[in-house]
Amino acid sequence: MRLPAIIKETFSNLFRKPATVKVPIEEKLPPAPGYRGVPRVDYSKCTGCGLCARYCPSFAIELITKDKRRYPVFHIYRCIFCHQCVEVCPVKAIKPTEEYELSTDRPSDLIIKP
Ligand code: SF4
Ligand code: SF4
Repeated sequence: MRLPAIIKETFSNLFRKPATVKVPIEEKLPPAPGYRGVPRVDYSKCTGCGLCARYCPSFAIELITKDKRRYPVFHIYRCIFCHQCVEVCPVKAIKPTEEYELSTDRPSDLIIKP
């Protein structure tokens, strides 16, 4: 690029809006259609069959026993958002979401448990 063009480009950028947006504090961007976010489980429907844990490719689901029942605990920090668990759950207890904001300073926020 020649010098006059550089100067012109520089000055034109002084009066343009920024190309970036301040996510997520000032603006939220909608996820793309079909985006796979955090899986959410409805524990009232869960039968404790364990299929979700068996098929999770990243070992993000742990089965625990509580009050003589088995429940899946989701370690979302390991999740790769493949939604395999959503597909295999025989009672449709796991719902796909488009949640993608996972930043936190509390590790417990990234664990879904009953
Ligand atoms: S979305 Fe995929 S990686 Fe995440 S918990 Fe479900 S099966 Fe595991
Ligand atoms: S596959 Fe569904 S019913 Fe079975 S343990 Fe997982 S959430 Fe519960």
